[in-house]
Amino acid sequence: KKVFADRMSLLGTETAFEVLAKAKKLEAQGKDVVHLEIGEPDFDTPKNIIDAACLALTSGYTHYTPAPGIPEVRETIAGYIRNHKKVDASAEDVVIVPGGKPIMFFSIMATVNPGDEVIYPNPGFPIYESVIRFVGGTPVPIPLREENQFRLDVNELARLITPKTKMLIINSPGNPTGGVLTSDDIKAIADLVRGKDILVLSDEIYDRIVYSDTPLLSIASLPGMKDWTIILDGFSKTYAMTGWRLGYGVMHPEIAARIAQLMVNSNSCTSAFTQMAGKEALTGPQNEVENMVAEFKRRRDIMVNGLNSISGVSCLLPEGSFYVFPNFKSFGKDTKEIADHLLYDAGVACLGGTAFGSYGEGYLRFSYANSVANIEKALERIETSLLKIR
Ligand code: PLP
Repeated sequence: KKVFADRMSLLGTETAFEVLAKAKKLEAQGKDVVHLEIGEPDFDTPKNIIDAACLALTSGYTHYTPAPGIPEVRETIAGYIRNHKKVDASAEDVVIVPGGKPIMFFSIMATVNPGDEVIYPNPGFPIYESVIRFVGGTPVPIPLREENQFRLDVNELARLITPKTKMLIINSPGNPTGGVLTSDDIKAIADLVRGKDILVLSDEIYDRIVYSDTPLLSIASLPGMKDWTIILDGFSKTYAMTGWRLGYGVMHPEIAARIAQLMVNSNSCTSAFTQMAGKEALTGPQNEVENMVAEFKRRRDIMVNGLNSISGVSCLLPEGSFYVFPNFKSFGKDTKEIADHLLYDAGVACLGGTAFGSYGEGYLRFSYANSVANIEKALERIETSLLKIR
């Protein structure tokens, strides 16, 4: 008998964690590595949030909570969604889960049948395709192209929609490209899917990490779209809380109930005191978020200018998230090879573009959620090291 279930062969991975492990191994052997591979803020979680968690711990928030979350925290999240995204949400639409990622897993698990088509961004967050395959869905990539500032092309999307399309996944601001969909893009996407029984999984985890003053539009705020949209959001990126494992989804209450059922069958609930910390994050002072975003913007500019000054590299200025996705096509090499070269030769950990799908070939992803000193050190090392493979 085989040990592992057949379905395990369908599951993909997130390469960032593999490269992090490789980099840690090199560090253990004494090599100095600059970490630009992993997508997490290097800042500490703001103190008011840590204090709220400590207070919750000593106030008895140490037990199970209802599967979809503590009612007052669901209510707080609904209020935040109404204010910030202009979506008419109520507490029963909210499910609190351990991170943003479980919303991907659970919402696809709850709605996609074998043979259903799911359209998802490529290059895009690798877990989308992994989970679509895991449940037997048919992954339908929509290419994001540099010529279009890594926004999806609405005409191309129109051609990919078929009667079998069950779900469309969008992610703006996007990982790995930093691309941001315009309000016109979002309206055109809504016009395409409205009335076709297509669910939209809108991954809005980076929607506070934006560098222009143009407000972002959530697709769920458009007429007729709220019942058909699952918003994925959370605390990991905005509040530098990746290790807390706290996120949520906002969706039709019938879907929320199915996700709560999946929670009962897996986690039971999200940790009680972290939920209370999340309440403080949303209702407490927001100045630290503003400071973090201003600092990310400064780093983005240093990163993009630095990359563009290296011969053979060109990099767009992303409008959101904390990643750049520069073009390395002039090297004529598999970018995974370039990423390996940079890790072993220069001690700079980054990811080859194909870690995010086939349309990522020719690009590398660098996270600039690292100090300016480290970014400058990495840029110098990249420039010197690339001379060896030209
Ligand atoms: N969505 C995107 C696009 C991401 O890049 C990430 C994390 O890297 C997540 C969701 C998941 O975030 P979390 O750590 O809250 O599970």
